[in-house]
Amino acid sequence: MEIKNNAYQIQGVDLNKVVKEFGSPVYVYDANKIIDQLTTLKNAFSNQKIKIKYAAKALTNISILKLMKKHGAGVDVVSVQEAKLALKAGFEPGDILFTPNCVSFEEIQQGVEMGLTINIDNISILEQFGHKYHNSVPCCIRLNPHIMAGGNSKISTGHVDSKFGISIYQLPHLLRVIKTNNIDVIGLHMHTGSDILDAEVFLKIADILYGVARDFPNLEFIDFGSGFKVGYKENDITTNVYDLGVKLGKSFDKFCESYGRKLEMWFEPGKYLVSESGYFLVKANVIKTTPATVFVGVDSGMNHLLRPMMYDAYHEIVNISNAKGTQRVYTIVGYICETDTFGWDRKLNEVREGDILAIKNAGAYGFSMSSNYNSRYRPAEVLIYEGKAHLIRERETMDDILRNQVEIDI
Ligand SMILES: *Cc1c(COP(=O)(O)O)cnc(C)c1O
Repeated sequence: MEIKNNAYQIQGVDLNKVVKEFGSPVYVYDANKIIDQLTTLKNAFSNQKIKIKYAAKALTNISILKLMKKHGAGVDVVSVQEAKLALKAGFEPGDILFTPNCVSFEEIQQGVEMGLTINIDNISILEQFGHKYHNSVPCCIRLNPHIMAGGNSKISTGHVDSKFGISIYQLPHLLRVIKTNNIDVIGLHMHTGSDILDAEVFLKIADILYGVARDFPNLEFIDFGSGFKVGYKENDITTNVYDLGVKLGKSFDKFCESYGRKLEMWFEPGKYLVSESGYFLVKANVIKTTPATVFVGVDSGMNHLLRPMMYDAYHEIVNISNAKGTQRVYTIVGYICETDTFGWDRKLNEVREGDILAIKNAGAYGFSMSSNYNSRYRPAEVLIYEGKAHLIRERETMDDILRNQVEIDI
């Protein structure tokens, strides 16, 4: 997003005009930013057989999935429904990694029937998988290295209390199950959380994986998961992927040499690819001055963007209707009957009722975590692609709210 002639634009498209055309609230994504992130990651690991599996749950719109496919990414899905979306978007089953957690064995079987690569994170499921398929269907194993990483305990998945992955302390048991059932393990995987800052954590995870890998002779890839940190505030420190590319690349080369062949290096970023591409545009419904603060009440809330309330996530907010207005301090809140605060004590160019605010970093876990709470419609989504605004999801209507409700005679 940039300012030209006092207008906030993406690829030359005026965001205030997007709201005029498609209404508010509306999610807007910049396709160029997604492509840039994907390219940066590929370039950082250009010395490796690198595969990027976009973690679809971050932003699942089918047009976004198509954009990912067009630019060479595979996809990581956590449910068969996401897998169906990925297939509809044109991904080959072989490009889809299925990494569910605590799903039934029936869902795993559906994944096998769809031809997905199955990532198993539970010994009980692995036993059932082995009984049924033996070595006829290869699989990947999700390990838990018990490393505390990530920005927030809700988004850290590798620590000792975490429900994710098979504990590396259960390695002997795991190997027994694999041997007894003649299971073909072609990949090892770890995903220890979101918002990991530095290369050192990845290197630590990598060392653990290399140590374990010796016990798995058929490996084709190692999946290092995700957790790349993106910037939320100006001057925020982010993961330096080029630095990571050099350091992790070096350690991986050394490992592959001792393993005996060159393996593929996989990542499955969600946030890194789509967070910064997204802007959530909302309208200031009311300005409310209280003895404590000046509230801006907007036409949205935790039903549309949950991250500030659920994860205490910081999302920068900009008034895009008054680029030259005097700066004042506001608390930006939603219209839901809960305390749904988007940001406290934020300096914004003077906000007038009817102004449009842009909430930044809204591409990841924004729309995909939205709900109909308070019986509100979920917002529209717009993709700015090749210099034009494309509607990629219509705003819901009353029909959507009522769609599956069954009215009985009372
Ligand atoms: C959610 C998830 C990701 C993506 O995490 P980000 O922090 O969005 O990059 C990757 N892998 C798995 C298994 C996930 O569940």
